[in-house]
Amino acid sequence: MQPSKQALLVLMAGATLGLGALSVHAQPKPNVTASQPVDQTTPQPHPPFEAVKLADDLWEVPGAGSNVTILVTDEGLALVDDKYEYHYDDLMKVIREKISTKKVKYVIDTHYHADHSGGNTRFRPAGADIISSIPGHDNTVNKVQPGAPPNMVPANIAFTGEMRLYVGGREIRINHYGPGHTGTDVTVYFPHARVICVGDLTHIGDLARGGQYPLIDYNGGGSIQGWIDRLDTITSSTVIDKVVPGHGTVGTKADIIAYRDLLEKLRDHVAAYLRDGTKTEADLRAHLVRDEHWPDPGLSIVRSTHGMFMDLKPKG
Ligand SMILES: [Zn+2]
Repeated sequence: MQPSKQALLVLMAGATLGLGALSVHAQPKPNVTASQPVDQTTPQPHPPFEAVKLADDLWEVPGAGSNVTILVTDEGLALVDDKYEYHYDDLMKVIREKISTKKVKYVIDTHYHADHSGGNTRFRPAGADIISSIPGHDNTVNKVQPGAPPNMVPANIAFTGEMRLYVGGREIRINHYGPGHTGTDVTVYFPHARVICVGDLTHIGDLARGGQYPLIDYNGGGSIQGWIDRLDTITSSTVIDKVVPGHGTVGTKADIIAYRDLLEKLRDHVAAYLRDGTKTEADLRAHLVRDEHWPDPGLSIVRSTHGMFMDLKPKG
């Protein structure tokens, strides 16, 4: 578990956001909870889930928790991410009514955060095989994520590098290239449709708002440089028509590149700020608020600042 001070700050961030979400007139608080709401165990009301068609045999269920992508085959369904555990019944309802009545054969976790993999707790006992990176499996077992539900179920199939899954005549390419948003991120690529699911490696909604406060989960193995490198690998090695992010609207390859450029700008700003070697971690935090307009407290600043400071301060 995290030090109690950090946990307290996370809780404070959640309380602030909870109030904001309830008030119609509240100021928007972009992206503080985009990838990881704080109260991860209490079911939250949400609009009914909808099914969005991405290709003939590929669907998306966006909305609360995380986006879920669904490949439909004669052999069964393969899901990418499965929202929170408490979304399971509503998610299965929209799948059954709008997409397919075939069994869910596979669930692929893009990473270990509970808004993406909490549903494992229900899908695994129902007979689905759960696939993740090895670090994703280990982070779930070791309960690395602060505030995650205590009953998280890890993948029963874990890998590093590349895994190819062949289901119902379709190929699915699953890649774990290394650290990014977390140390556990995988991308899931459907070559026949040229659709890639990137989890929280790209926040397209943040681009539309003209700003971003990435949650770099250093505690879970993340890295800002690793994140930039990963996005370079994805865009240089993959033919992509559609990008399904972990949250928000579907985009294109250009959105991955734009997000990568934002991360690079942030890295360069922080490295330049720390370059003279006199700044403390508290200085950096104040700088992120003042000059990068990061909300404080907020999950991104609470979870990313220490790691960025250690990572980007002058060495030696
Ligand atoms: Zn995440």
